[in-house]
Amino acid sequence: MESLGSILRRIVGRTSTSEGSRTPGFDLQEYERERTCPHGQKVRLHRSTQSWPWEEENPCRECRRERVKGRLYDASGVPDLYWPGGKTPATFERFDLALNPQMERPLRLAQEYCEDEAPPWLVLVGSPGNGKTHLAKAIAITFLERLARVRLWVVPEFLDRLKATFAPDSERDFEQEMADLAYLPNLVVMDDYGSQSQTPWANERLYLVLNMRYERRLRTVITCNEPRALARDGRIRSRLYDGRLCQLVHCKGIDVRPKLREVR
Ligand SMILES: [Zn+2]
Repeated sequence: MESLGSILRRIVGRTSTSEGSRTPGFDLQEYERERTCPHGQKVRLHRSTQSWPWEEENPCRECRRERVKGRLYDASGVPDLYWPGGKTPATFERFDLALNPQMERPLRLAQEYCEDEAPPWLVLVGSPGNGKTHLAKAIAITFLERLARVRLWVVPEFLDRLKATFAPDSERDFEQEMADLAYLPNLVVMDDYGSQSQTPWANERLYLVLNMRYERRLRTVITCNEPRALARDGRIRSRLYDGRLCQLVHCKGIDVRPKLREVR
């Protein structure tokens, strides 16, 4: 019978040997460098870096798609509480027609706008609180889900951002900012058009942006509380009334915000 001492020596001896030679298949570090992604693919983690997170050598198609989508959402200007899965998702499915039956037509037209053959511009005009901005965000989300580059701007904030490029310490220049805002995104949503301060500078910048998108027939959604605001600049008005380019939708719904407060 083997003595307890020799058994212990044998075990200790074997352990030190396997540590020394790093037996394949029994290397803890090696094991941790592989995982199964949520879609069932075995993914190898990059060996060149020890820092977290490790890069994946062979991410699956679906994981790559989700990462691209995440970056597009982050850059979209749509606040995360409105994203699908957010606190108050601004999707078409969550648009409550029962609260505002008069919005049936704008809802249908906004959904149709997401189809390929729709005119590239959609303008939603009507009194505050009737759900125009919800529809505009739902369009943005539909495009983001298709991996389109989307930028949502509240018009006065957009102008502030342009103005900021004139600061001496600004890292971005005006031309670059205009390109990023005006024609790089596949879809631009300009929320609350008409609420900007009516200065010649602001109106000229807005005209430039809209004209860039008009000439390129780029997808643009505008929401506006004040129909007269659309008519202030004749050059913009003539583009908005160009039926080949733009669908103008009058949203006659009521302000549902007081109802929402009652529900809460
Ligand atoms: Zn995956």
